[in-house]
Amino acid sequence: MRETEAGDRLVASMALVVQKYGGSSVADAHSVKRVAKRIAEAKRAGNDVVVVVSAMGDTTDELLDLAQQITPLPPQRELDILLTAGERISMALLAMAINNLGVKAKSFTGQQAGVITDAVHGRARIVDVVPHRIRETIEKGQVAIVAGFQGVTTETNDVTTLGRGGSDTTAVALAAGLGADVCEIYTDVDGVFTADPRIVPAARKIDRVTYEEMLELAASGAKVLALRSVEYARRYGVPVHVRSSFSAASGTLVTAAEAAHTPVPGVIVTAPQEDAAVEAPIISGVAHDRSESKITVVGVPDVPGTAARIFEVVAGAGANIDMIVQNVSAAATGLTDISFTLPDGDGPGTMAALAGVQAEIGFASLQYDDQIGKLSLVGAGMRSHPGVSARLFGALRDAGINIEMISTSEIRISVVTREDSLDDAVRAVHSAFGLDTTDGEAVVYAGTGR
Ligand code: ADP
Ligand code: ASP
Ligand code: MG
Repeated sequence: MRETEAGDRLVASMALVVQKYGGSSVADAHSVKRVAKRIAEAKRAGNDVVVVVSAMGDTTDELLDLAQQITPLPPQRELDILLTAGERISMALLAMAINNLGVKAKSFTGQQAGVITDAVHGRARIVDVVPHRIRETIEKGQVAIVAGFQGVTTETNDVTTLGRGGSDTTAVALAAGLGADVCEIYTDVDGVFTADPRIVPAARKIDRVTYEEMLELAASGAKVLALRSVEYARRYGVPVHVRSSFSAASGTLVTAAEAAHTPVPGVIVTAPQEDAAVEAPIISGVAHDRSESKITVVGVPDVPGTAARIFEVVAGAGANIDMIVQNVSAAATGLTDISFTLPDGDGPGTMAALAGVQAEIGFASLQYDDQIGKLSLVGAGMRSHPGVSARLFGALRDAGINIEMISTSEIRISVVTREDSLDDAVRAVHSAFGLDTTDGEAVVYAGTGR
């Protein structure tokens, strides 16, 4: 990488850049051509460019709907083959559009690009990246386009998908495997904001965020980056630049805290803040999640071993549980209630598994609630600032919103509310922590938010 200095801007050239374009950036033929121009410009500026592309627009959802019309429970292997088709369409079209601009480009499926995964269809984990063909393509001076969200498992030689939002993970894994200078995630907003700009128009763009904070935001539902992509970036130290494909503005840089001032190609570096009075903010953002449900096991005998047995059954059903609350048992009955949250998709199977052990465990009944929402407040500054919970609960009280469950980590507080009050809760909390900007509304350039 070669750098030239221009004022407080570092203009970098001759970098190896992995660019990922999300579905809303390639929603139709016109957008594919627009993105192709951007890629051709990056290449002509002297960079080596590898591109990861998602399925066009809402294609993945449409393919899922189509499968549902055939059968409610499609075989996972076939569903994966179906879903990988979405990214294959966009990779070929994008390669055609780039070639049309006089820049040589070649497309590759995940398998051809050497993305090796485990055999868990629908949410496979990348175990290795062997990008020989991508390297060859770069060495020939060509642009490599890779279908995101997919790989191949060496256990059965079948294609797999990485779970929703998985193209982010493909991009970061390739950036790590190739030793890229930066992984650019191009999307339909200007970067990572203090809340989803679709809900909070006064959300503020964050210039830099640490892997640690981004992990908590992503795990709490801020889908701008897939959780596994952030885990991968942290493990391999890949600098991730989240930015808009609809504007030239610099976006959000995600790095380790200690790398916060290391120059990264394409990121405008402002001089480090000298004024000690300006501290790092306590809160980095408010995330929300509507994709969880709550199961309550009612009238559980309050004796040692019951919780262990219940959660053995839940684990056996393959559910990834999130929050757990056990109430104090009523003295008169010795019975308690245990509630926990889990992804919507894990609900039916878990309910069926628990119903199967009702007589054995001796609980009274089961309740299922898919109308919950989760709000999470994230910030490394929470560690050293008391009163954050009080302010959060106060904001919800003032907005008339009831809290149903609470959980915390070192740098996060999450609460469960009714799903239909979640948006109001997010706006109230965002405002109460002084995160609202007065610099104009956040721009959402495209996408359906689906
Ligand atoms: P892509 O198709 O480019 O992968 P996604 O829809 O997966 O895009 O992610 C971008 C969307 O993430 C934005 O349009 C925005 O609605 C949503 N989002 C949620 N939380 C945040 C946040 N904190 N900052 C920015 N965007 C967010
Ligand atoms: N197309 C896949 C999805 O919609 C993967 C991605 O966009 O990252 O989840
Ligand atoms: Mg995405």
